[in-house]
Order: sequence, then C-alpha cells, then structure tokens
Amino acid sequence: LLSFGEGGKIVAHAAKLHKIKRIFAIVPVENHVFDTSKSVLERISLPLFDAKGVEVYVKRDDLIHELVSGNKWRKLKYNLAQARQNKAEGIFTFGGAFSNHLLATAAACKETGFRSIGFVRGEELNADSNDTLRKCSELGMELIFLDRLEYGMRHDFEYIKELKNEHPNFYAIPEGGANYYGVIGCQEIWREIPFQANHVFAAQGTTTTSCGLAAGNTQKAEIHVVPVLKGFDALAEMKKVLDGFTYDSDLSAEYLEQVHIHPDAHFGGYAKYDTGLLEFIRMIYRECRLPLDHVYTGKAFYALYKWVENSDDLEGEKIVFLHTGGLQASGFYLE
Ligand SMILES: *Cc1c(COP(=O)(O)O)cnc(C)c1O
Repeated sequence: LLSFGEGGKIVAHAAKLHKIKRIFAIVPVENHVFDTSKSVLERISLPLFDAKGVEVYVKRDDLIHELVSGNKWRKLKYNLAQARQNKAEGIFTFGGAFSNHLLATAAACKETGFRSIGFVRGEELNADSNDTLRKCSELGMELIFLDRLEYGMRHDFEYIKELKNEHPNFYAIPEGGANYYGVIGCQEIWREIPFQANHVFAAQGTTTTSCGLAAGNTQKAEIHVVPVLKGFDALAEMKKVLDGFTYDSDLSAEYLEQVHIHPDAHFGGYAKYDTGLLEFIRMIYRECRLPLDHVYTGKAFYALYKWVENSDDLEGEKIVFLHTGGLQASGFYLE
C-alpha cells in the first residue's frame, strides 16, 4: 500500500481493513514548488459578520503560487510525486479553454522539469485563442486540441491507454486533478488550520477538494460545499468518490455526515454569472480587499454571506473560507 507525507485516515483505515503490513511512502517532489507558507489564514471583517458576532477567516490558497494556485496546487502535489516515482518524463492532462488546472499543470511541470501535454476541449481553438492557453504554451506545454466527441472520452480507460501508448513515459492526470492523489493532497489543508473551526466553506467542481476536506475532517467541523455546476447531485457524487477510496460505504457515509450542500449559488451553472454576482465580488473587494473570481470563489463566498445573513445563533463561531484560487480570469471586474 502507498502512503503519503503524513498518511491520512483513508490509507490507515484501508491498511487495517485489508491487513496490509507494508506501506511505502510517497515523498513530495521539489519542496520549493510545493510550499504552502504563503497561504496565510487571515481574519476578515465585514459589518454583517460583526453584527452576527462571527469570526470569519480566509485560508488564502490563492497566494500559494502565482500560477499553480489554490486547490490545483494541492491536487498536483502527490500526482507529481507519483509521476517522479514512476520515472515519468512528462505529464498529460485535460482541460477546457480557460482551465485553471491546465495552467497550474503547465507551471508546475516547468518548475519541476517535467514535459507537459494538455489535451484541450475544442478543435476550433489554438495556442493563441486566449490568455490561459497562451500562458500554458509559453510555459512549454504542448497543446493538443480535441473535438467534443474525442474530449468526451477523457474518462475512458481504453482511450487513456491509447494515449499512453502514443506518449510512453507520460503520467496521466485526469481533468481538474480529480483522482486519489488529488484528494490526499486536499486533506492536508486541515494541518494548516490551527484552531477548532465550526464551519468550513469551499467551492466545488469535480468534488476532489470537498472529498479531501470531508475525509480529513478529524476536528468534525461542519463542511459547507458550494457546487458551481447546475443540477449536480453533490452528495451522491462525493459518496461515489469516497466509496472508491475507502472500499467502505459506512466509512464514506460517516465522512459525509458533517457535509452540507448549498445548491442554489451556481448562478445558472458553470462559468455563468450575472451583474448581481459581479457587484457582490466588487463589494467584497472594496470592503476587505479579498479578491474573488466569478467561476468558483465568488459563488462560494456569496453562499457563505447569505448563509450568515439567514442564520441565528452564530455568536462566537469560527468560519473558515477556503480560497481555492482561480483568479487568473478575474482582472476585468476587480480593477
Ligand atoms: C478547480 C477549482 C475548484 C473546484 O475544485 P474541485 O476539487 O474540482 O471540486 C474550486 N475553485 C477553484 C478556484 C478552482 O480552480
């Protein structure tokens, strides 16, 4: 069985369950890249929070690295360690035209000496289509543009096998960094919250980050998950992911006991927004200099704000907002 930096509940439990005695450690690569010291935990103040008597802290994972920011960094950490362990020469992965994950992968690979290939959704695009793709390409990522049909096969094992045959010595990371190693990396967020939090809020896309939070929640905080996808059965999706890791339906149900979903803050779906959301993001920036984006963190912080507004008895409670990063496309409304 493989273990990581400091193990984690999942690995220990699985080892016990399967009576596994030998545990191999995976050691993170290049600590100068995988260093979280810039992710401070800062208290922010707003009239609403003062009126309700709550303490709100923001875990600034957006500050970890200029390009490998937020949860994308956490999800890459053990994937790159695994790639190094496998003596891979490069990484290939998948993403849309504005993917934070593609950019993070391109930057992390450049700094750790891996080659990188990004399979991008949309055969009509090219390396000059937008800033994200331009930056990826400048960082040395080879971009391969796929039509929707082929991109739709990105989770198919046979298809991945074909790509591995075409690119031997490349390690595959799924879209969004959504795999086991990604979840393990996200569990580590807890180590950097030095007090007992009552509530933790985070945006959700693939569920990797929220599953990491749920599985690493030894302090039994209430975890508030804000899906940015419309019509997404967040709890069912999280259960599926956690079942796959734990092989134990009761244990994953236990992990989900403290999870609350806020299903009504997606603003129409992925990357959709309205003037109300942009106004809210500008207001927060003006009041407390917290930069948010319109795809993920703006929606999650909006859900937090509304929840505080509609709750009683929050006096003295500590809320942590996990800033998952993703600010690369937010320049146009924060100026
Ligand atoms: C990718 C991303 C998310 C979604 O995280 P998942 O682990 O896929 O659920 C949240 N916030 C930001 C800023 C992101 O870039």
